[in-house]
This record gives sequence, structure tokens and C-alpha cells, in this order.
Amino acid sequence: MNNDFLNKIKAVAIGHAVADALGVPVEFSTREELRKKPVTDMMGYGTFNMPKGSWSDDTSMALCALDAMGGEKLNFKKTMQNFVKWCYGNQYTPTGFTFDIGGTCRTSIAEYLRNPDYKTCGPKDERSNGNGSLMRIYPFVIHTYLLDTDVKTKLTLIYIASALTHAHKRSKIACAIYAFIMWELLGENTYPVPKEVILKGMVKAKDFFDSDPEFCEHYKKLFQKVVDVDEFLKHGTISCIQNEDCISSGGYVVDTLEAAIWCLLTTSSYKECVLKAVNLGSDTDTVGAIAGSLAGATYGYEQIPLSWREALIGREYIESLCDKAFAHKIK
Ligand SMILES: [Mg+2]
Repeated sequence: MNNDFLNKIKAVAIGHAVADALGVPVEFSTREELRKKPVTDMMGYGTFNMPKGSWSDDTSMALCALDAMGGEKLNFKKTMQNFVKWCYGNQYTPTGFTFDIGGTCRTSIAEYLRNPDYKTCGPKDERSNGNGSLMRIYPFVIHTYLLDTDVKTKLTLIYIASALTHAHKRSKIACAIYAFIMWELLGENTYPVPKEVILKGMVKAKDFFDSDPEFCEHYKKLFQKVVDVDEFLKHGTISCIQNEDCISSGGYVVDTLEAAIWCLLTTSSYKECVLKAVNLGSDTDTVGAIAGSLAGATYGYEQIPLSWREALIGREYIESLCDKAFAHKIK
């Protein structure tokens, strides 16, 4: 059981990093361009001229968080210090070179250097709702899954984790919705995890936020159109948007979450899910990474294609950080 769960954590981390690396060479490509020449395998170079298997900020910042874990409590201060080492010191990178830093992340890290208070460094304004906290939230979601406490307390920690770089409520809710889904997936120990489990997580998120104005206004499409949660509650059927033209895949946190969940629900393997995510275009690596972490938890480590795992730079390092952060916590 111990090893099974640790393997599942690695499926999330490697699922995330592999899909990040699939998206890196084509980040900012349009959907039209990718329709003509879709990504079908791990490639090198392209947008950032990085070698095959290179992951970007999504994975780097998740590794900063994993490397700050291991104690009983989350160490947000150490997480911020690790973000500084990444942003200014080229650490937590696949090739010793930091690239692809998001604007809001850069602002938060610079603010932390000016005034080292992790509670105040993330911008709170509405314009600061890119996907930069959602893309690196999974280590905190795994940590909170393992805590023996109530949902509210767990979400308070998820919110602090988001707010290190993204403190607006919309970004925090995106991380919370992701957490509700991932917590359900982490609770399953056979593969593939049925799609109903993903919907169960969404129902819990909907119930929790119920009448929250920010949730009702901005996550309506995700819960009514991307997948119809009421239809699921009434009839147990999973009904998703079938036309990808209705799915945006840019850097706005709401769009990214919608795209990742849509890819997860409309495909039936890890490979199919992450290729669909990357080939939506625009923020290919981040939509891929978020979909990939969820698909890792849904299909398991072995279903991540071996050739992709082998091509991933620093796979053993990423897995060693998972061991360091969580092995001692799993009973
Ligand atoms: Mg990136």
C-alpha cells in the first residue's frame, strides 16, 4: 500500500512534468498551426530552443515546493526562498538555465526579495489571474490530502500556497477545484480511475462554493457546459462540450482549468489526454502539465509512455523529491 501510494504521487509529478515537456517546444503556437502539424511525441528545441525532455516553470516551481516539504507543516517561507533560487539562480531547472517565467510570478518573487513576507508578496488584483499558481499547486494538494483535518483547514493551506504568487480569489478557487478533483483521484487505488470519480470531486467543489459570488460568476461554464454537473447528479451521465472551439487554452486561470478538465474527461488514456491538451495550442505546456498531473492520477505511472519517461530530463531527481517530501508521511 505504501509503495502503491508513493507510485501514485510519482504518477502525478511525472505526468505533470512529461506533459510540460511535450508542450515546451510549441508554447504559443496557435491551434491552427498545431492542427496542421500536431505534436505526437516528445520533441526538442522549438519555442525556447531547449533540448528534448526539458520542462519549464510549471515543473520548476512545483519542484521548489516539493523540496520545501518534508516536515510536519508546510514551509511557505522555504518555498518562496526556493522560488528565488529558481528565478535568480537557475536552480530547479532541467539544463541549469531558467526560462519561461510568468509576469505575476516574477512580480511576487521580486516583492518577496524586497519584503520577505510570504503572506503579502502575491498580487491580489483581478488582472493577476494567470495560471501560475494552479500550474504548481499539486505538491500542496498531495500534502493536504495526507492531513487528518477538515476540508476548510486544507483549503486554507491551498489558498496560502496559491497566494504566494496569485492572491486573487479566482486563482485560489481554481486551485481549490483542482484540489477537490485530485483528492478524489488520490483516494482510488485501481486504474484507470472511473470518470465518475472526477465528477464526484466536482460535485464536492460545487457544494462547497455553492453561493460564493466569485465561483458562481466565473466557474459557471466549467460546471454547466464543459461538463454538466447537474446532469451528472440527476442521471449519473457525463455530458461534455464536444466542440473544441468552445475551449480556450490561454494563460487565464479559468480557461486553463476548463481546458485541462475537458481534456481529462473526453479522452481515455494518459497519452491521448496530454496530446489533446498540448495540441489545443497557446499555453501548451501549462494546459498540458495540469491535465497531465490529473491524467497521471487517473491512469497511473505505468500508463505514462515509457519512451516519454525516459526522455524526461531529471526524472530520477523529480522522483527523489517526491520521496523526500512524502515517503515518511505514508502509513
Ligand atoms: Mg511553462
